[in-house]
Amino acid sequence: MDAPVELAARVKEIKASPTLAVDAKAKALKAEGADVLNFSVGEPDFDTPAHVREAGKEAIDQGFTRYTPVPGILPLRQAVCDRMVADHGWHYQPDQIQVSCGGKHGLYNMAQALFGPGDEVLVPAPYWVSYPPIIQLAGATPVIVPLDEKSDFDLDPAVLARYATAKTRGIILNSPSNPTGSVLSARALAAIGELALERGWVVISDDIYDTIVYGGGKLPHILDVDPRLAQRTLILNGVSKSFAMTGWRIGYTAGPKHIIAAMNKIQSQATSNPSSVAQKAALAALTGPQDFPRAMRDAFLPRLDFIIGALTAIPGVSCVRPRGAFYVFPNVSAYFGKKSSSGKVINDSVSLADYLLEEALLATVPGAAFGADQFIRFSFATSMEILEAGMQRLAKALAGLS
Ligand SMILES: *Cc1c(COP(=O)(O)O)cnc(C)c1O
Repeated sequence: MDAPVELAARVKEIKASPTLAVDAKAKALKAEGADVLNFSVGEPDFDTPAHVREAGKEAIDQGFTRYTPVPGILPLRQAVCDRMVADHGWHYQPDQIQVSCGGKHGLYNMAQALFGPGDEVLVPAPYWVSYPPIIQLAGATPVIVPLDEKSDFDLDPAVLARYATAKTRGIILNSPSNPTGSVLSARALAAIGELALERGWVVISDDIYDTIVYGGGKLPHILDVDPRLAQRTLILNGVSKSFAMTGWRIGYTAGPKHIIAAMNKIQSQATSNPSSVAQKAALAALTGPQDFPRAMRDAFLPRLDFIIGALTAIPGVSCVRPRGAFYVFPNVSAYFGKKSSSGKVINDSVSLADYLLEEALLATVPGAAFGADQFIRFSFATSMEILEAGMQRLAKALAGLS
């Protein structure tokens, strides 16, 4: 037999992360010498703070290089509990915390522990690219609930009710959202909480951007809707975005003890503990000064003002102003159906993103990757210089379509 080895059915069902794919293509063009401006990256353009890097180096030098407990070292889980109380007033014990190999892995562990064939999980769209495949890899079915740009991508309770069935097991929330930067209103959260309690759903709240928020006031949160929801809510967070630590791979989940225990069982057979060295660095991040995320937010704000102004000045482009995170998600569908001077037809977000990359050397992520084809995503976690040059190229490239 010399036919290629057959792959498992589950892997044929899913696609590789499209955001990482665009990033790879942009980097390849750049390596060939092309002057690519990259707006596709989903990470802060800051270095990990010095005291956190030092803690990582110390961990290496002190020989903290062996296996740790599967759910993470106790001081780190305690530090997560302390932050939850200090930042939100939520009370967790260390056995209600799992530290995982990045936030994405926490979601993977949750899905493996909670969902299986026949289960439906509600995913509001635009969604983060990894939610549907993570649900599918557990054998369950993602059910996409559309959000409307006209209501700032808030969830409409009436729409939610239409997508809920007897098979619904839970819902994934992401506020502030990647890719829209929108936040869920107290009204939407109240409706979700009511349905969750009535029908026994689990609520997964991906709070990874909760330190990068523009404008004052506490964000509405599902846990503040009804204290009973703590029994059926998993909070996902991590240091990737808040402390510019994407490469260290540390995320964490807080939730009911029996679910965390099930997730630990999965993790124990899949990865064992997250990196010991990275755990020490994350401990320094969570227990040290907390001004870094705020300084990053303050640096992002003028960039946000600039990019929103530049985008909405382009004919036909609309863009909801994000309330958190570091992405804008403009609606570019007015350009669908047009043609470039070289004859390339733009018919959807993928062909537009391709056109922008090939002809304007602008790397963006097509909205189709987030379940919203009328849009494209720009990250503004990049320098003002690049933002200015990028927006000029964008305006010119779009003006070149007819
Ligand atoms: C970045 C991100 C995460 C977590 O990323 P990790 O690098 O795995 O920690 C989770 N959710 C969303 C929406 C994100 O953008």
